[in-house]
Amino acid sequence: MIVSVGLIGDPVAHSISPVMQNAAFAQHGLAESYALWPTPATKLPRRIAALRESSMRGANVTIPHKTAVIPLLDDLDPTAAAVGAVNTIVRTTEGHLHGLNTDVRGFMRALRSIGFDATQRAVVLLGAGGAARAVGYGLLHAGVESLTVVNRTIERAESLLADLLATTERDPQLLALSPDDSRLADVVASADLLINATSVGLDGVSLPLSPALLGPHLLVVDLIYRTTPLLRAAESCGAVTQDGLEMLVQQGALAFEAWTGLPAPVETMRAAAWRALQAHQGEDEASPR
Ligand code: NAP
Repeated sequence: MIVSVGLIGDPVAHSISPVMQNAAFAQHGLAESYALWPTPATKLPRRIAALRESSMRGANVTIPHKTAVIPLLDDLDPTAAAVGAVNTIVRTTEGHLHGLNTDVRGFMRALRSIGFDATQRAVVLLGAGGAARAVGYGLLHAGVESLTVVNRTIERAESLLADLLATTERDPQLLALSPDDSRLADVVASADLLINATSVGLDGVSLPLSPALLGPHLLVVDLIYRTTPLLRAAESCGAVTQDGLEMLVQQGALAFEAWTGLPAPVETMRAAAWRALQAHQGEDEASPR
């Protein structure tokens, strides 16, 4: 078994990508494996140079390096360039490093998997970090009618919208709001889709907005891979919900196809990811805090 891809980030220890990608390699009969490459910021240039000099297929990139890695690569696909973030690197046999962003298509595929067409829909996006940028780009280019970005640091919401607008000829209604803005209740009341792309809820307790604003008219998506307080609140008021696992699986499937040129065994990857997540949750519950 040779290591042919890996995850560059800090921290990476709890990633379920190895289990998911190793299941895909095994399904195709490839004696290859996916490694975890914990990489502090100071070591990122050396890590990328080592990848270039290796004979590996490439890598995934996660927090906090999705933007910092860009100047270390040879070129970017148009989506990664527009979003300003790379989550997948493909290494060619000549040692060229191409940066891709599979989060965008991964998110849009996850939405479609539950029958949601974003065209002409009103969307509220909580968060303005890297994941929100990918999601916002996908939605804007899918033709949403309106996009409201809600973020604790309002300047980040404003610059996200300005950056996204510069990537399209489309002209949707765009609005940046603070979480305590009095207009938020009306905006959520008339929305079709609400997405949590903040890390609020990872602790299993916190909510990124008041549950009183939720209703059965909404599809509520949380990019966190498990059932969060937001999703529980949304379900209890009759909203349709989706957690972040399907986006994780779909972005991983797209990365696998980019590295290998083979069709990703999505069912196998989804089942492996789900089992790994159950195992992690079991560990979390068993470990003292
Ligand atoms: P990031 O770039 O660090 O952005 C974090 C976002 O969360 C920012 O908008 C930040 O607001 C907000 N935030 C953090 N703590 C907060 C708090 N206490 N109160 C209010 N807002 C807070 O992270 P990211 O890469 O975008 O990831 C965000 C989430 O998406 C994470 O949970 C990650 O696991 C998930 N994700 C899932 C997938 C998937 O495939 N399902 C892919 C990527 C990411 P400020 O701007 O004000 O700091």
